[in-house]
Amino acid sequence: MIDLSVVVSVYNEEESLPSFYAVLSDELAKLPVTAEIIFVNDGSRDGSLSILKSFLEQDARVIIVDFSKNFGHEAAMIAGIDKSRGESVVCMDADLQHPPHYIAEMLCKRSEGFDIVNMVRNSRADAGFLKRWTSSFFYWMTNRIIHEKLEPNASDFFMISKRIAAVLKTDYRERTRFLRGFIQIMGFKKTQIQFDAPKRIAGESKYSLFKLIVLSFSAVSALSKAPLKIALWSSALFGLFSLIVIVYSLIMWIVDTPVSGYTTIVILISAMFSVNLLVIGIIGEYIGFLFDEVKKRPIYTVMEEYE
Ligand code: UDP
Ligand code: MG
Repeated sequence: MIDLSVVVSVYNEEESLPSFYAVLSDELAKLPVTAEIIFVNDGSRDGSLSILKSFLEQDARVIIVDFSKNFGHEAAMIAGIDKSRGESVVCMDADLQHPPHYIAEMLCKRSEGFDIVNMVRNSRADAGFLKRWTSSFFYWMTNRIIHEKLEPNASDFFMISKRIAAVLKTDYRERTRFLRGFIQIMGFKKTQIQFDAPKRIAGESKYSLFKLIVLSFSAVSALSKAPLKIALWSSALFGLFSLIVIVYSLIMWIVDTPVSGYTTIVILISAMFSVNLLVIGIIGEYIGFLFDEVKKRPIYTVMEEYE
């Protein structure tokens, strides 16, 4: 039986891996748990894989999942969770920005009965003004659009129980994912721990601005259908507006003699635009339903059964 699975996503981390592994091993040695360490190599093009193999040779707890190419951090975390066998599963970065000494505290929370322990960033020594600002803007926007509220400073550093891992192994298998969002909307007993994210120990952030923008779109589309409703709402607004225009043109047609054909054109254009938007809105609603069906989200998730 394995108590703890540590899932680590690795993308071009040759500089940070040795210290990460040393710190993690030290921390695990202090804990009374049996562990496995699952490194998911997300298509690194540097020496990361051979470093991981050297860990494998000296440590029976190490497992390496080597991707055929770079599939992204989210995919790497999912692959690690799929592979995990532990009673608790912790996901963390390989750059020591998710300090392993918090694992003890997270395990405490788990033993108190929490299924999900989210690590929430107090401060980010790494992030410059731009990253911090875009991150808060992202959470602000997303929380405005989606129904379930997300914790603003949630990170990809979290611990989940075996049963949450089991849910993630079968459900929430969409191509477009936002794992830390899913973890917050699944229900179950959850709690959070504040932490200070230190600077990355070596190398550079593997998240380019482009990857962050893609992630934001994934998050919104994975968690919300609101953008699809734009057509419906604008058809309602424009419909009201065109009604006013139509009534006004008809009155002008009666009391005044406008240019020939003017009233007909105004009425036709207003009416047609409203109908157009309405039809697009209805199609949007159906696409929304298709979207839900395609995602195959669970209709319900059982936490426990009592007989
Ligand atoms: N990572 C990954 N695939 C990617 C990008 C990043 O597996 O395409 C890993 C990376 O090796 C690190 C973690 O995800 O362990 C977080 O990435 P990074 O530290 O670059 O992001 P930041 O902390 O700057 O947001
Ligand atoms: Mg980092």
